Amino acid sequence: MKIAVIGTGYVGLVTGTCFAETGNDVICVDIDRHKIEQLQKGIIPIFEPGLDLIFNRSVEKNRLHFTTDLEAAVSTATIIFLALPTPPGEDGSADLKYILGVADELGKIITDYKIIIDKSTVPVGTADKVREMVARHAKVDFDIVSNPEFLREGVAVDDFLKPDRVVIGTSSERAKKVLNQLYEPFVRQGNPIIFMDERSAEMTKYAANSFLATKISFMNEIANLCERTGADVDMVRKGIGTDTRIGNRFLFPGVGYGGSCFPKDVQALYKTALENDYTFDILKSVMQVNQRQRELFLQKILHKFEQQITDKTFAIWGLSFKPNTDDIREAPAIYIIEELLKRGAKVKAYDPEGMANTKKIFGDSIQFCDDQYEAIDHADALVIMTEWSEFRTPDFEIISTKLKSKIVFDGRNIYHHESMKEMGFYYESIGRQIVNN
Ligand code: NAD
Repeated sequence: MKIAVIGTGYVGLVTGTCFAETGNDVICVDIDRHKIEQLQKGIIPIFEPGLDLIFNRSVEKNRLHFTTDLEAAVSTATIIFLALPTPPGEDGSADLKYILGVADELGKIITDYKIIIDKSTVPVGTADKVREMVARHAKVDFDIVSNPEFLREGVAVDDFLKPDRVVIGTSSERAKKVLNQLYEPFVRQGNPIIFMDERSAEMTKYAANSFLATKISFMNEIANLCERTGADVDMVRKGIGTDTRIGNRFLFPGVGYGGSCFPKDVQALYKTALENDYTFDILKSVMQVNQRQRELFLQKILHKFEQQITDKTFAIWGLSFKPNTDDIREAPAIYIIEELLKRGAKVKAYDPEGMANTKKIFGDSIQFCDDQYEAIDHADALVIMTEWSEFRTPDFEIISTKLKSKIVFDGRNIYHHESMKEMGFYYESIGRQIVNN
C-alpha cells in the first residue's frame, strides 16, 4: 500500500518505519527541513531503541522516503496518516492548529480518493472538524479515520509491531477494510483490532492516558502516606499488585509523571469535560498530586540542607522523563534543576541520551558530564531523577569517595534500603523511611 505520514516526530517516524517494515511504500513528510535532510542522509534524529535496524532495512529496500513536499507525498499515497503535534493551548485544551492546518491544505491538493487517518491524540469531535476542513476545498471522495496511537517512547518499535490492540474509529466500510488489511501483519498473535466510531476512538486514547496517570498519582499519594506512617511503599506495592483486579504494572511511585503525553492529555481531557459542563474531579486531583510530587521531592533536598543550597553542588543522574528515550519534555528533572539553580546551587548532570536536548534549555548554566561518575565528583549530593539501567548497580565505592558527603536522593527508588544503610549513605527515596537520618 502507498502511505504518506505527515509529521515525522516520535510517532510519525516510528509509524512510517514500521509500515515500511511490513512491505508498504511509505513517504514521511515534515516541515522541519533539517530533520528531513538528516533522515534523507540516513541519520535518525531521535533516540528510540531498535528503530535504526528496521529504518536501515526499509531505506535500503527503497520503501521509506522523506520529503518536505506535502503535495508530492500525498499525490502518490491513498493512505494519509496525521502524526502532528497537539500541544496544550493557553487554556490547557489541545491546540488543533497543526491538524486543522494540514487538513485545510489536504482539501486543496487531493485529486483522488484518500483515507485521512488521525494518529495524533485529539479531543472528541476532531474527526468531524477535520472532515469539515478537508471538505471546504476537496472535490473528490475521502474518508476520515481516528486511529489513536498507544506506543510508548523507549519501546515504541515493539509497541507498534506488536500492539496490545489497535483502535480504529470510522464509519466508512471502505476505510475499515483497508485499515484491517494494513494492520493485520501486526496482530497475528490474536491481539484485537477494535473498530468503533470516531468519537469513541478519540476518547479511548484520553481515557487510557488519564487512567494511567491516575494510577501514578494514586501510588504517589500512598507513598507520601507511607513516609508519614512508617509503612514501606515497596511492600504495599507488592501487596496490592498481586491482586489480579489491580495488577502489578504502573504502581511505582516516584517524582511524578512527565513526558509529552500524560501532562497534556490529562489537562486536555479535563478541559473537554469543562467544555461539556462537567467537572472531572479525579483528574483535577491527579494533576495537583503530580505537581506536588515534584515539589515534595525538592523540599526533601532543601530540608536536608536546611534551606541553604547556595553554592552547593548537586549531581543529577537522569534528565529524560523516563529511561530509554532522549525526550525531556515535561521531565521532572528539568523542574528540579530549575529550582536548584534559582536557589544558587550548581548542577552537574549526566544522562545517557537526554543531554543534547537538555543543553537547549540550560546551555552553560549547568555542567554536562561525560559519565555518571564525573557528575558526582565533589558534589554535595547525588539526585536520581530517571531510572536508567546503568544507574541501578553503580560502583558505590566510587560514589562514596567522589561525593563530598554520602547523601543520595532517589526519586525512583532504585536502591535497596538495607544495602544503602550498611554502606552508610544518607538515603532518601519515595514512600520509604529515610536511611541513616
Ligand atoms: P513530535 O513533536 O515528536 O513530532 C511532530 C512532528 O510534526 C514534528 O517533527 C514537526 O516538525 C512536524 N510538523 C509540525 N507541523 C507540521 C506540518 N504542517 N507538516 C508536516 N509536519 C509538521 O510529536 P510526537 O511525540 O510524535 O506526537 C505526535 C502526536 O502523537 C501528538 O498528538 C501526541 O500526543 C501523540 N502521541 C505521542 C506519543 C509519544 O510517545 N510521543 C504516543 C502516542 C501518541
